[in-house]
Amino acid sequence: MARKFFVGGNFKMNGTKESIKSIVQGLNKAQLDPNVEVVIAPPALYLQLAQDEVKQATVQVSAQNVYDKPNGAYTGEISVAQLKDSEIHWTILGHSERRTILGETDEVVASKTKSAIDGGVSVVWCCGESLEERESGNTVAVVERQLAALAAKVSGDDWKKIVIAYEPIWAIGTGKVATVQQAQEVHEAIRKWLKAKVSDAVAEETRILYGGSVNGKNCKDLAKEKDIDGFLVGGASLKPEFVDIINSNL
Ligand code: PEP
Repeated sequence: MARKFFVGGNFKMNGTKESIKSIVQGLNKAQLDPNVEVVIAPPALYLQLAQDEVKQATVQVSAQNVYDKPNGAYTGEISVAQLKDSEIHWTILGHSERRTILGETDEVVASKTKSAIDGGVSVVWCCGESLEERESGNTVAVVERQLAALAAKVSGDDWKKIVIAYEPIWAIGTGKVATVQQAQEVHEAIRKWLKAKVSDAVAEETRILYGGSVNGKNCKDLAKEKDIDGFLVGGASLKPEFVDIINSNL
């Protein structure tokens, strides 16, 4: 089964009502490859605004995070049910900024992922190693540890609601993109791990995105690799070149 190309735009803590409206309107006017599934993830405060503005059938709106408790005294958090109530069907989880700055462990990320899926929200689940971990030869071990924590919580059809984003931390927001070979190697290792530890079908069907300084210039070569099924894009998702990244297979 061919995996549908997927491009996510992570706006992080950027934007205003005006700029987010303008980004979405830019996407609305653009000629987007109809074979690419696109999600854009503005800050929570602007989810509804983005949702109201999106007119392209292939573009959906995603949260950047969600909590794993149904409701109650969790100041500052948003529940899966609240996303659903706002007709938001996607969330990013386990972004390295949440892991490193906000202290989310592999287990917390896995638990949030399970809660999102159980509540009907699909997940762009992020993993990836630090520069130190890469330089000490531990890249695959780190990613496998993160995957093992996820696989301990999710099973069966849950995997149909997960898109994996491999994002080496040293490449995020640094302008230092992984080489095509570095990215493909880790994507292949992730697929092998899924085959060995989950199932042939999950390994075959799960989309694995690359994230880390993707831009309008480097996206085409990365997109040619057999295990790269799309991108999670930070900085460039705020710029017109996001359209070129979506269209990287054209
Ligand atoms: C990200 O935040 O997920 C990301 C990949 O950022 P950037 O594209 O800016 O490196």
